[in-house]
Amino acid sequence: MIEYVDSDKKNVLVLAQLNHEIRTTMKIFSNFESGNIHVVSAESPQSIQLTIPADNQTEISQWFHFRLESDAHQPHHFTINELATSAYPEGWTDYDVVASYDREEWFRIPAQFDGNALTFDFIPEHESMYFAYFAPYSYDRHQDLLHSAQTHPACKLETLGHTLDNNDISLLTIGEPSPEKKNIWIIGRQHPGETMAEWFIEGLVLRLLDETDTVGRSLLDNVVIRVVPNMNPDGSIRGHLRTNGIGVNLNREWQTPSMDRSPEVFLVRERMLEVGVDMFLDIHGDEAIPYNFVAGSEGTPSYNARIAHLENHFKQALLTITPEFQDEFGYDKDEPGKANLTVGSNWVGEQFKCLSYTVEMPFKDHISHADELYGWSPERSVAFGHDMLAAVWATVDEL
Ligand code: ZN
Repeated sequence: MIEYVDSDKKNVLVLAQLNHEIRTTMKIFSNFESGNIHVVSAESPQSIQLTIPADNQTEISQWFHFRLESDAHQPHHFTINELATSAYPEGWTDYDVVASYDREEWFRIPAQFDGNALTFDFIPEHESMYFAYFAPYSYDRHQDLLHSAQTHPACKLETLGHTLDNNDISLLTIGEPSPEKKNIWIIGRQHPGETMAEWFIEGLVLRLLDETDTVGRSLLDNVVIRVVPNMNPDGSIRGHLRTNGIGVNLNREWQTPSMDRSPEVFLVRERMLEVGVDMFLDIHGDEAIPYNFVAGSEGTPSYNARIAHLENHFKQALLTITPEFQDEFGYDKDEPGKANLTVGSNWVGEQFKCLSYTVEMPFKDHISHADELYGWSPERSVAFGHDMLAAVWATVDEL
């Protein structure tokens, strides 16, 4: 009945259809992996009132992911309420919603934030579509990444143990371990809603294993890279922003992890203590800051000129490799000796006296290189991971 041709034609059809009875009962679903939304009311497409449920056993809310089934070519008006009490209220300013029809292409829908409610308007082209805080990275894709990686002769896949929800804590060991080689560790998604972290790791791992890419090949002659692509599968599957299945923020567990609260950190840390760490990258997304940046361990007790040199060397390499990186905007640096040693990159930096960075990417867009249609995206996260491997390569001789 409706043939969509162009935006002008669509507007005509919308008006025509509004004069008829609405065919489809509007439905909103979050009954799938990483789904998370609460429908306050949805009386009509023009008034869809939503809130975001908190991570289990916490008051931390920010990640949303839901599916709308409704009439195509009808205007829909969404309001996500109570965001003044979300985990990062400032994260909603200049934030545009992520959406997809086919679950592959995730585009942005412009949104407005008034300090408490995020509102956005949209005319779907199809009956069913997904909305999310950022493009999801599914448990299936996670398994695809692990298992495609393990087919490389230099890569070994290992399950270190299980989470409290009985999911696998998976480690990729890439490169033949030997006493002469440096040990590099890269982990992602301690905060599970920061899905860009696993897109980034996918880009980095695929480059590392690409036989036609000399950066990966020459790195593996000299180092062993251990990768935990997803530190927090429980939170990822449950649709959490920041915590594991029982509401524990894994990035505050590194000093005293336990199998009861934080087996994810406990088991990875045990292996680190066994094999050592010469360089550590912990991959995250930042809700508020619209830039890519790194946060170092300058506040740890043993921070010194050698670590400062390594940090500068790494940052200079990355600045040369990609305009997606900058070093002007980011977190305030910790005062000397004031670092929180429960944080992964601080604990690792202090324990192993090594280069240790938290890497942050935006949920919004990288505003010096803005993209109106996609914002910061899975594709750019993959490319950034790909590029960061070259910065690792450029720094290895200094370690
Ligand atoms: Zn984070």
